[in-house]
Formats: sequence, C-alpha cells, structure tokens
Amino acid sequence: MKYFIETYGCQMNVADSELVMTILNDNGFESAAEIFEADVILFNTCSVRQHAEDRVLGRINNEMKHKLSRNVKIGVIGCMAQRLGEELMQLSSGVDFVVGVDMYDKLPEIISSAFHQEMLSVTDINNEQVYPDIMPVHQDPLKAFVTIMRGCNNFCSYCIVPYTRGRERSRGYAEILEDVRIAVEQGRREVMLLGQNVNSYQYQDISFPLLLKKASAVHGVNRIRFTTSHPKDLSDHLIEVMAENEKICQHFHLAMQSGDDEILTRMNRGYTASHYYNLIAKLRKAMPEIAITTDVIAGFPGETEAQFQRTYDLMKAIEFDYAYMFKYSPRTGTKAALYTDQVPEEVRLDRLQRLISQQEKITHKKYQEQIGKIREIYVEGISRKSESEVAGKTPDFKVTVFPGTKEMIGKFINVKIVDAVGWTLKGEVII
Ligand code: SF4
Repeated sequence: MKYFIETYGCQMNVADSELVMTILNDNGFESAAEIFEADVILFNTCSVRQHAEDRVLGRINNEMKHKLSRNVKIGVIGCMAQRLGEELMQLSSGVDFVVGVDMYDKLPEIISSAFHQEMLSVTDINNEQVYPDIMPVHQDPLKAFVTIMRGCNNFCSYCIVPYTRGRERSRGYAEILEDVRIAVEQGRREVMLLGQNVNSYQYQDISFPLLLKKASAVHGVNRIRFTTSHPKDLSDHLIEVMAENEKICQHFHLAMQSGDDEILTRMNRGYTASHYYNLIAKLRKAMPEIAITTDVIAGFPGETEAQFQRTYDLMKAIEFDYAYMFKYSPRTGTKAALYTDQVPEEVRLDRLQRLISQQEKITHKKYQEQIGKIREIYVEGISRKSESEVAGKTPDFKVTVFPGTKEMIGKFINVKIVDAVGWTLKGEVII
C-alpha cells in the first residue's frame, strides 16, 4: 500500500513526518512519489494560526477528488488533529481517520481499520511518548532534524502548543546521539536539535548544554544547530558551551514576543524586557559575531500605543539580524483568546507594518556589514535563480549564493561576500 504525506507548520512537524514515514515503511507501506499514486493521503497539520487550519481543510476538500476514481483514504495527523479530533470528520466528509501526535505508532492499524470502513479518531495525549524504539529515517541527504524533546510546559497565553503537544518530555540522550551518529554516517554534516523548548531538555543527569556538547563531539559532525529556545531557560552554561565549541553554530533564535513587561506578564512569558536585553548582551559578549533572530507579536490584547512603542524601541536597541513578526491571532482554547480587550484588526496590522519597516532597515544594515567578509558556506544545492550558481548557508544561517557547480553540493566552501540583496548574500569562491 502506498502513502503520501503533506507536511505543514514547524520543523517539529517535518521531523514528525519523517518519524511517521519510518513507522509506515517498517510496516510494509511504501512512500508514493505523487499524491495521485497514493492509497493513503496524510496531512500533517499545524494549529498555530487559524489560517494554517483553513488552508489544510481547503487542501483536503481539493484532494477528495481522488476518492471518486479509487479507494483512497485521507487521514489528518499533527496539531490540528490533536486540537479538533473527531470534529474534523464533521468539518470535512473527506476525512477518514484522525491521529494525534502521541499515537503515530498506532497508524498502521488505524489505516487498516479505515479500509475496513472503521473511521477512527485516536488522539489520546501520552506525556511519556518519545517513540523510543523508532530511529527516524531522515529525508534530507545533507542535514538532519533530530527531535530531542516533545511537548511544552510554558503555557504562553496566546499559544495552542501545550494543548496539542502535551507536557514536556525529553528523549533518551543515547538515542539522540545514535540518531546523530547515523545521520552523519549517511553523509550529513549538519544536525538541527529540535524541541518546542530545547533549553529545558533534561534526561537523567544530562542537561541541554551537556547534550549539545556530546552531540557536537559525534565524529563527522561539522555543524550543530538547535531550536526553539525560551529566554527563561537560557543558562550561562549554555552560552559557555556555545562559545567554546566551533561546531555549534553561532546563531541564536530567541523569541522576544514583546518589549513591555506588563504585556510579557499577560503573555505568561516568564521574563522581563530588561532580562531579555541582558541575555542578548551576554550572548554578544561571549560571541561577538553571533547572529540573533527572534519572534515578535504585534497587537496582543490590551496592548497600548505606549506598550507597543516599548517593543519597537527594544527591537531598535537590540538590532536583530532578522525577525519573524506576526499580528496577534486569537486561538480558540488559549487564555488570551478570552481576554476582553482585544486590539482592533487595523491597529494590529498597522503596528505589524511599523515593526516590519523598521526591521527591514536593520536587517539590510546587518547583511551589508557582511560585505568583504570571508564566510564558510555549507552548499545545499543549485541556486533557484541560476543554474550556474549554488546556494547554502553561513554558520549564522544566512543564505548565500555564489558561482559554482553541483559537485560543490554537500561541501564546505569559503567565499568572500561581495554583495547583499534582501536576505541573501552574494559571494565569490576563495581559491
Ligand atoms: S514556549 Fe510558549 S510559545 Fe513556545 S511552544 Fe511553548 S507555550 Fe508555545
């Protein structure tokens, strides 16, 4: 039987799709190259914003056409499956089964039930579940997303993740190191350690900084990255381990969300603006060349113009390399969605636009500062814009394009940065 997976949302979902593919392949299923070849179509979904859910429902309704000519089953997995469960079968008659994020090892039997006309929704939360017996087969030949923990205990008041992914649980470090070792053995040189909140990883006496050290010591690894971090768990030990280990990429994605203390409290973020600012200062003191990126929400319920201005000013003061900026989007089931002082849509949009136009100038400046520097690029492929150019990333996650050939893919090439256009650096190979 052939299956096809369409993946939406964050890198955790990309890693989960690899886990699901491994489970199905180990149970005799085969991956279909095209959706129209599949007997089972799976949508691995995201619930972070309403738009993400609406988009998947549109896709499901679109792909129902395959059922007219063949006996095809459609299944929904991921955060939307976890949030909505059985309700999804009312929302779309195209859905045959729904499987939550802790039940993927049950997929083979749930799929066979679906082919016996038993439409199941299995979304039990299992706060122990880390799929210990499954070593995911990574799809990307050059880099691997390695999940180190699942779930989140932070309950930021705007976020649906703790309700869809359950409580934090850390994967065994021996399995993680084995996952990294296999990924490298198969030719990958870069590994991204993944979790909703990697800094709070703890397995027996192994904390996140120690895990990072062990992972970077695996023979053959050139680059270790990690995401997502929470400011409340960013320890001096982590900064130390990053600064003393050249294999750990000097790029830190640290969600700030707001620059106002009252709003941070209402978001239940667990830190103040000055604490956040000091963390950035510590990172830059230990690693002056480090790239810092962030996430920011504009128009959180109750946010006044003065409170917004504090966010605007803090971003100006910190000068992030780049930022992912969003207007607040109420999520049913979260605390903030019930707040009565919602900010009007046009005000949210206006504030978002002001953040974006300021950040674009800062990012432009940061990228211009790269011109003249020698950077090491891990070549990931042929440039989308030109057959005679290749593309890859610097250690601090900046996309770089330069004249090259396909023989360079998977190699580390030193280039001189000669220009910067938007979020892309242009380089020349150093002979
Ligand atoms: S840390 Fe906050 S924003 Fe991040 S996943 Fe957890 S609850 Fe959501």
